[in-house]
Amino acid sequence: MRTAEKLAIDGGTPVRTAPLAYGRGAALLGDEERAAALEVLESRSLFRYYGPHLLRRTDAFETAVCERLGIAHAVATSSGTAALRAALAALGVGCGDEVVVPAFTFIATVNAVVLAGAVPVFAEVDESLGLDAADVAAKLTERTAAVIPVHIENVACEMEPLLALTRARGIPVLEDAAQSMGATYHGRPLGTFGDIAAFSLQMEKNVTAGEGGVVVTGDERLYVRAARYQDQGGQFFTSHGGGRGGELDEPFVGENLRMTELAAAIAGVQLGRLPALLDAMRANKTRILDAVGTIDGLQRRRLPDPRGDGGSSITWFTPSADVAGRFAAALLAEGIPCTRMYAGLPVYATPAILQRRTVSNKGGPWHCAEHPAQIDYHMGMCPRTEDLAGRAVTVGVGAPYDEQDCADVARAVSKVASVVLA
Ligand SMILES: *Cc1c(COP(=O)(O)O)cnc(C)c1O
Repeated sequence: MRTAEKLAIDGGTPVRTAPLAYGRGAALLGDEERAAALEVLESRSLFRYYGPHLLRRTDAFETAVCERLGIAHAVATSSGTAALRAALAALGVGCGDEVVVPAFTFIATVNAVVLAGAVPVFAEVDESLGLDAADVAAKLTERTAAVIPVHIENVACEMEPLLALTRARGIPVLEDAAQSMGATYHGRPLGTFGDIAAFSLQMEKNVTAGEGGVVVTGDERLYVRAARYQDQGGQFFTSHGGGRGGELDEPFVGENLRMTELAAAIAGVQLGRLPALLDAMRANKTRILDAVGTIDGLQRRRLPDPRGDGGSSITWFTPSADVAGRFAAALLAEGIPCTRMYAGLPVYATPAILQRRTVSNKGGPWHCAEHPAQIDYHMGMCPRTEDLAGRAVTVGVGAPYDEQDCADVARAVSKVASVVLA
């Protein structure tokens, strides 16, 4: 019998010592972003709505997003969380409402709902790590004001059954596409399926300005409401920013969630790089998967539409949470970027959510007079999601990887599997 190679974590030689250039849009930042940022700085007009030599980079970014995604309206914001806030505001979600969210997501999805004054209700994900329509159906009540499918790591949720359900019940869908700009489902870009959608431009996302976000919608009224919300209810949007918004006779207070011209200039260049970024990540993912082949004990995450996958990572389910922990640690020791997404836990395991805490703990969505049902969260409430999250290991795929990099990733996965799964 051939003895397995000694793992780096056990004192063996790591597959990789040179760091891998892992990253999405951030890995491609270059001279064009530098020039675009400098141009805005030199214009001395860093605010989107007015300035001495305003270049209107934020307007241009919004237009470019609309063209890229094939959607009518976009509103740039200061972050992805801000985009979710503006989208929920556009939908009129507030006190007494319930919003169905996946039990597996980044905490921002839940925070935005709580900050809107609404109660998050958690639904199961399936083997695609996307929202399971059947469980969503079981979680709907007469208080459900929206459903938020989250497209994790450039992989679409199974949207067809979800949209069939929400349309039949007349419930709005807000897509959290923060991690998935440019990825598609049956040929159509994510973020164009729901009534409204949110993207993030944070450093780890496909298109980045360090921080930033964008709301998109095909609905004129939702657009104007989101645009006004991110601008204190319509401080500048209604006057300087193209004279829009005045036609809505429904005043409401908002926040300042505006994007800066500097961020928009950088994001605009990054958006132009998106097709090449996705092509490179997809090609590298295919190379790695081909080289790894099939391994007993590693089950690939299901892709609802494999052709639409943005390719930013590979997730496998190991036989147990314990094995996942050892697998990820061993792979990291081999010099390969590997994580257990969200620490292998459902989002409601976060203490603030599990204990239903807000800053004041006075009233608020979880103890709202408008919501008599004292909602209770506890571990075990979405058992399938807990099982899947615990068993998942995720390997990053960088756009700049060359053939050797891909070969190293694949070799390290096979090496670790031969010991940890033995
Ligand atoms: C990154 C992210 C957000 C929040 O975006 P920020 O720009 O960091 O505020 C929201 N939802 C998901 C799923 C994300 O990954």
